[in-house]
Amino acid sequence: MITCSVPSCSNPVTGGNLCGACLGRLDADLAAVADLVAELDTTIIRQARTGQRVGARPTEEPLPFNTSASEIRDDLRNVLSTWVRDLWEIYGPRRQVPTGEVAADGTPVVAAELDSLDLADELPDMAAWLRRHPSWIAPHQAAGELVDEILDAIGRARRAIDLPPELVYCGPCPVCGTDLYARPDRGTVVCRGCEERHEVTERREVLLDLARDQLATAAEIARALPGLLGRELSANTVRTWAPTGRLAKRAPDAQGRPRYRVGDVIDLALS
Ligand SMILES: [Zn+2]
Ligand SMILES: [Zn+2]
Repeated sequence: MITCSVPSCSNPVTGGNLCGACLGRLDADLAAVADLVAELDTTIIRQARTGQRVGARPTEEPLPFNTSASEIRDDLRNVLSTWVRDLWEIYGPRRQVPTGEVAADGTPVVAAELDSLDLADELPDMAAWLRRHPSWIAPHQAAGELVDEILDAIGRARRAIDLPPELVYCGPCPVCGTDLYARPDRGTVVCRGCEERHEVTERREVLLDLARDQLATAAEIARALPGLLGRELSANTVRTWAPTGRLAKRAPDAQGRPRYRVGDVIDLALS
């Protein structure tokens, strides 16, 4: 009996290198990615406790962007795009393209060239694409690894968003550092760590100040700022400010997307 190649699974395979249960689990988890990513986005500003610290800050005040949630999002993107590319390179259609060279016997030399993959660089699109190709995934030599890595990355995204979404993140308690989460209908919040009571607006202003010197992409800012400013702001609006000279582009992120200083965007949004 050949068993499923997913490390934690010992079911018999039903086709290729996977069992039906693992293929089913993969499909169900991929189907949840679109909703998961939307919730992950709203979490990104919420729990900033584990993120990078800026050295110049006097205390251990964390940054208002939720670095761990955005890392988990980037990680999920990496895992999905790696396997999409891998599957496409193995199974994608190839065309015979003349190289322009001529062989010794006079025939033109042709090379098999992989078609380019027409797929948006968005997590829900990648997840949907993977769901359409179970017949490529099951026989893949590393199918077990593929399932294991994707389920793991989606599982981590699930755990990162298990906060009650209705609570408003107010930054760390200035007394003891515990993260403060206020009920949206309350003007004050009581710290769970030291039981000190704080004004919500005051804590939110501190949080907004901390955000000012951060660099972030238009999409990240659009996700984070409504929660901080209390008004809607689209990524597109942020992008349209740049060519008019009202907003300076800063150093791009690892993917080459332009970033902006959050404080500049706040000033424009409030002007
Ligand atoms: Zn299995
Ligand atoms: Zn406290």
